[in-house]
Amino acid sequence: VLVLGIETSCDDTAAAVVRGNGEILSQVVSSQADLLARYGGVAPKMAEEAHALVIDKVVQQALDNANLTEKELSAVAVTIGPGLSLCLRVGVSKARRIAGMFRLPIVGVHHMEAHALVARLVQRDLQFPFLGLLISGGHNLLILAQSLGNYVQLGTTIDDAIGEAYDKTARWLGLDMRKGGGPALEELAREGDANSIKFSIPMRQHKDCNFSYAGLKTQVRMAIESRNLCVDDVPLSAATFDDRKLRADIAASFQRVAVLHLEERCQRAIEWALKIEPSIKCLVVSGGVASNQYVRCRLNHIVEENGLKLVCPPPSLCTDNGVMIAWTGIEHFRLGRYDPPPPPDEAEDAQLDLRPRWPLGEEYSEGRSVAR
Ligand code: ATP
Ligand code: FE
Repeated sequence: VLVLGIETSCDDTAAAVVRGNGEILSQVVSSQADLLARYGGVAPKMAEEAHALVIDKVVQQALDNANLTEKELSAVAVTIGPGLSLCLRVGVSKARRIAGMFRLPIVGVHHMEAHALVARLVQRDLQFPFLGLLISGGHNLLILAQSLGNYVQLGTTIDDAIGEAYDKTARWLGLDMRKGGGPALEELAREGDANSIKFSIPMRQHKDCNFSYAGLKTQVRMAIESRNLCVDDVPLSAATFDDRKLRADIAASFQRVAVLHLEERCQRAIEWALKIEPSIKCLVVSGGVASNQYVRCRLNHIVEENGLKLVCPPPSLCTDNGVMIAWTGIEHFRLGRYDPPPPPDEAEDAQLDLRPRWPLGEEYSEGRSVAR
C-alpha cells in the first residue's frame, strides 16, 4: 500500500508519501510562519491564498522525493476537517483532482485523529485501546481511543487551547514569531525562574477532564502589561538585554502553570480511562505543543507514576504534517473505509466532502457507561 497524504486545514501546506509498513518515503511542509508573524494570526482568506499558491508544488515535491508518479499510488488521503473550510477546500480539491485523473480511491481524514494515530506509525506495536492527549493551536483533547475510528472524548477545552496561550504569550513578550510562538517561548523559559510569578492553575474546582486557557491568558497579559512590556496587545520593545530576565521569568512561570493544568487533567483522565478500559498501557501525546521538551518531560513523570508508557512522536510528526494524514489514510484504507474515485467532471467539487466542524468522538461524563 502506498498513500499520498495532503494537509491544508490550518496554516501549513503539507504532503507526504507513506508505505503500508510505515516507511516514510517523503515529507514536505510549506509553512506560513512569516505571514503569521506579520499579522499575528491566521486570516482565512490569506491562508487560503497561501495554500493555493504552493499546493501543486508541495504535492509534486512529495511525489518527486518519493521517486513515484501518481499512477503508482494506492489511494489519496486528505484532511477534510476540522479546520477552516476555505483552507480545507484547497487540499480537498487537489486530492480530488488527482484521484479523479488517476482513478484512485480517496480517504477523508480527521485532522485530530491523524495527530493521534501517527503514534502507531512511530511505535508500530501500539495497540488499541490507548489514551490520547492532543495539544495544538486549536484543540486540547483527552481521548480514549478504543479502536480505529472509535473514540471517546474524555475532555476538551471550554475556551482556548494551550497552543493559543503559548502563541499569545510569546507575542505579548515581543518574541520572534517567525519560528513559531511556542518554540520561542520554550527557549526563553529555560532562562527564567518558573516560581517567580504566581499564576493560578485553571479549573481546579471542576473535577473533570476539561481544559481552560482563557483565564491564564488574561493573567499573563495583565502580568506583562503591569510590567510595562506590552500595551493593548502590542509589545512595547523587542527583547532587549535589560529586561530579558524579566521576560524569561514570565515565560517560565506561564509555562509551569500551563503544563501543571495538563498534568492534573491527565492524572484524572488516566484514572477515568483505566476504569473504562483496564488494559490501557500508553498515553499518546501529540499535536504541535507535544514537541515541547518541558511538556514531554513533565507528562512522562505522570505517566510513569501510573505505570503507563508515554508515546510521543518526534517534533516533525507532532506539528502539522502530511505523514500523519497519509498514515491515517492507510489505517482506514486497509479496513475498506474509503470513497471511490470521483467522476472526473465532479472532481473539482471539494464542497462535497468538507467537514469543518467535526467532533472526534462522543463526549464522556464520569458515571455514564461507555459501549465497548
Ligand atoms: P489544530 O491541530 O488544533 O488544528 P494546528 O494544526 O494549527 O492546530 P499544530 O501544528 O498541530 O496546530 O500545532 C501548532 C501549535 O503548536 C501552535 O500553537 C504552536 O505554538 C504550538 N507549538 C509548536 N511547537 C511548540 C513548542 N515547542 N512549545 C509549545 N508550543 C508549541
Ligand atoms: Fe494540527
